[in-house]
Amino acid sequence: MAGRTYRTEAVVLRSFRFGEADRVLHLYTLDRGRVGAVAKGIRKTKSRFGARLEPLSHVDVLLHQGSGELHTVTGVELIRSHHRAREDRYRLGVGLVGAEAMLRLFTEQERNPRAFQALTRFLDLLEELPARKTRAALDALALSFQLKLLWLSGYLPHLTSCADCGATDRPLVGYSARAGGAVCPECSDGALALSPAGLGAAESLLARPLAEAGGIAMTSRSARDALAVITSAYEYYGNFRLRAVRSA
Ligand SMILES: [Zn+2]
Repeated sequence: MAGRTYRTEAVVLRSFRFGEADRVLHLYTLDRGRVGAVAKGIRKTKSRFGARLEPLSHVDVLLHQGSGELHTVTGVELIRSHHRAREDRYRLGVGLVGAEAMLRLFTEQERNPRAFQALTRFLDLLEELPARKTRAALDALALSFQLKLLWLSGYLPHLTSCADCGATDRPLVGYSARAGGAVCPECSDGALALSPAGLGAAESLLARPLAEAGGIAMTSRSARDALAVITSAYEYYGNFRLRAVRSA
């Protein structure tokens, strides 16, 4: 085979059927950021890849870069399968929100070790997440991970003073994606109305480590407000909405 082969750690963000027996994988790799790859013959019963390339799996892969846009998987070893995250509906819902956020925010074939580390940390914590009956989209880990991804993408919502006029002595009553954060009553025209508790929750989710997200006291109203901040930032900066949020 002409071209080059390289090895990297990667997380499978999404996978879809391709042709008779293959799958196309959207990978987030440690060495090159976002990479599309084809796993040939993976849908055959005796595939040499086995079940090691399921969505949310953390793997060590050998990828061959030929002339086409898609790289080819030539070898794979599991680092962590994260099967616990897939076998429960709630955890899977949280995981798919995180994976889609990663897909939408990190689209370039460009190394970003901090984003990769946040992703693997998120998946490790997801394994331990208690299964719940509530909406996965409002889960503290899901919200915290997305706020951190926004920050790593340079779309950090500013939540501590008015993002429009800079006032520090007025209450913050809304969120304006255009201004890039929370706004005071005088700058709140067209802004999304938010509760002070919701803004406080978003601020804590952003400031505290992912591992502490579950311990942040948050009402469902606060969680909805934090989600509204994230959704509004996606719409403003990237003009997208996450499909996984609608179904979770
Ligand atoms: Zn203001």
